[in-house]
Amino acid sequence: MPHTKTALIIGASRGLGLGLVQRLSEQGWQVTATVRDLHKAEGPQTIPKVTVETLDINDRLSLDALIEKLKGQVFDLLFVNAGISGTRPQSTTHATAEELGELFMTNAVAPVRLAERMIQQIRPDTGVLAFMSSGLGSVACPDGSDMVLYKASKAALNSLTNTLVTELPEPRPTVLSMHPGWVKTDMGGDGADIDVQTSTEGMVKQIDEYAGKGGHHFINYKGETIPW
Ligand code: NAP
Repeated sequence: MPHTKTALIIGASRGLGLGLVQRLSEQGWQVTATVRDLHKAEGPQTIPKVTVETLDINDRLSLDALIEKLKGQVFDLLFVNAGISGTRPQSTTHATAEELGELFMTNAVAPVRLAERMIQQIRPDTGVLAFMSSGLGSVACPDGSDMVLYKASKAALNSLTNTLVTELPEPRPTVLSMHPGWVKTDMGGDGADIDVQTSTEGMVKQIDEYAGKGGHHFINYKGETIPW
């Protein structure tokens, strides 16, 4: 009998992270979800059978505590979704060191730091390690000049992920840098192309299809490859 698949979704209080928890739960996965604030009324706490833990991805002590709690657990999927768009307007001229620090820490450094700490807990061979990147993180992408710092933070995430992959011991999980599409969330706004359901259904389908393939792939929710 196939085992019940297990997932750890980082940054699942709302938007795409919450959507991923919903889709995976509907498909019978056993899901652990992290949020920053357990006391918010809505979130993965409202979904039956989901285990909810707290994590601020930028806080070392918070990460230490999560890792201690999850010790010994093995996940078929680790999806690091947490991210911020950064303050606006965005420009290299006006951004403060504090703003840049928070943006690059949250979107690039902290996701990879977490993955490094948890890599042994992803099922070897068939496991998937996914990072929520963005098509804007492609260095060749001409769009999004009003999001110049956010774009650079996602390009940095892709670069750090690439280095992580080259240093992983065998057997390695499949690593995905995912573009969810332009999605109607607090970050994406009401004018975005698609809803959370469409994006997360697509991403879960890609995770199923890529499990066991190995390698590192930059793809969107439809499975189309994005140039680095
Ligand atoms: P969202 O609705 O703003 O949700 C962002 C999530 O990240 C929330 O759960 C938030 O938690 C969490 N988060 C932020 N900072 C965190 C931290 N320091 N520690 C832990 N969790 C933190 O945005 P979204 O659209 O769902 O975006 C999710 C991911 O997709 C992001 O990485 C984003 O860059 C990426 N993305 C989105 C789009 C789009 O069109 N929406 C397109 C491309 C990529 P709190 O509730 O505690 O703030």
